[in-house]
Amino acid sequence: MTTDNLTPVDAAGATPPSAADESARWRRLPSVDRLLQDPALSESEWPRALLVDAVRAVVAAARADLAAGAEPPTRAALIDAALARLRRQATPSLRVVINATGVVLHTNLGRAPISDAAAKAMAEVSAGYSNLEFDLDSGERGSRHTHVRSLLRELTGAEDGLAVNNNAGAVLLALSALASGREIIISRGQAVEIGGGFRIPDVMRQSGGDLVEVGTTNRTYLADYERAITPRTALLLRVHPSNFRVDGFVHSVGIDELADLGQRAGVAVMDDVGSGALLNPRTFGLGDEPLIQDSVRAGATVVCFSGDKLLGGPQAGIIVGKSEAVERIRRHPLARALRIDKACLAALEATLRHYQRGEAVSEIPIWRAIARSTEELEQRASALASAIASPRVQPVTMRSTVGGGSLPQETLPSWGLAIAPADSPGAQSVATLAERLRRNTTPIVARVERDTVLLDLRTVEPADDDVVRQAIVTILNE
Ligand SMILES: *Cc1c(COP(=O)(O)O)cnc(C)c1O
Repeated sequence: MTTDNLTPVDAAGATPPSAADESARWRRLPSVDRLLQDPALSESEWPRALLVDAVRAVVAAARADLAAGAEPPTRAALIDAALARLRRQATPSLRVVINATGVVLHTNLGRAPISDAAAKAMAEVSAGYSNLEFDLDSGERGSRHTHVRSLLRELTGAEDGLAVNNNAGAVLLALSALASGREIIISRGQAVEIGGGFRIPDVMRQSGGDLVEVGTTNRTYLADYERAITPRTALLLRVHPSNFRVDGFVHSVGIDELADLGQRAGVAVMDDVGSGALLNPRTFGLGDEPLIQDSVRAGATVVCFSGDKLLGGPQAGIIVGKSEAVERIRRHPLARALRIDKACLAALEATLRHYQRGEAVSEIPIWRAIARSTEELEQRASALASAIASPRVQPVTMRSTVGGGSLPQETLPSWGLAIAPADSPGAQSVATLAERLRRNTTPIVARVERDTVLLDLRTVEPADDDVVRQAIVTILNE
């Protein structure tokens, strides 16, 4: 993996070493056994087998250096290197980081952080047995789909609902169950790629449905759908173009009109709202994102959305809609392959309960981040900057984004810290500063813009401010 960082000793010298010098040099390298007897290792908490491996590895590295002409490292240096190696190996690969990018739903940073209640539910259900598929009333086999069904109905107004692994899976499953072997009509402007290689036309084909594109890239009318309907048509599909906006000479058909047409023609209408939201982002000075309730009310047969975008929950794909369609989806063989796991199900239920109790904005981290006032953010930025007390660190205004394929091009005013590079020769570059932040015990991910490191406090939980302060102070002193 990584190389063991032993103090390199320069073997420089014009004259080649004598044979006697040479063997003395090798003898000064302690043996693996001798090193293992050192109390710093023998009395450490590391299991013996791991200690032996680590000591062998650092001694082998030292031998290689010796062969290349280096001086033998000291015993203390070897022990430190072995312990450092053990610590490195014990660091988990998947770790908690502090998101100081200002991108609320950062796909590379795991999208939505879940609420405390959701994390607790997830941990408890995972650590013990649960009634996942067991009916506590009858004592008989139950279904995992019962746990969020009534919450989904209540919150979205739909007749029925179920959750699967993720929204890509939800789209594939719903199309497979409702349109396999028949035609799916979609506007040419909505045959999009969502990210991570999720292409709507590919998923439509994968489901066994025949893709029928109507309209043009920028303009599609109701009549385009109407003309394309044949006896083979199973479904009209609307896809929310999550991560881009088309402006100017454009026209698309709203879900209301599409649902009406579906009803008249006797074909199903599916709305993939992508992120979807139960709360209106407009309340927080953002633009429009389709509201799940609106699509249900408009009469879509099924509506699907992600659990970890603007819902602010765990990874999941949720399908709500008319009873008969949802039941068909639930019974499809792919539903088993794409089923949601118990930990995510527990977190999803806890997340939905926040909406039920009207406490989503205070309890769900992404809504908390979106709702944070500029006054609060400015106050935190100033407090941090004064505590750090370096002319290189200043509180500054910046703009946060929502990300995660929602609200493209929309920003929220924010505050954070700007770290300038030192102007002394050979000083750390901003890239190095950003790298040092990522190497912090709890890695901090910041933005680099125009030769400044920017930390946006909107996406940093106030409880983490002190970790950020300490990391910056340490780095500035390096
Ligand atoms: C994000 C998105 C998906 C994929 O959802 P995942 O939960 O990432 O699987 C599908 N459709 C749309 C419109 C999306 O925005």
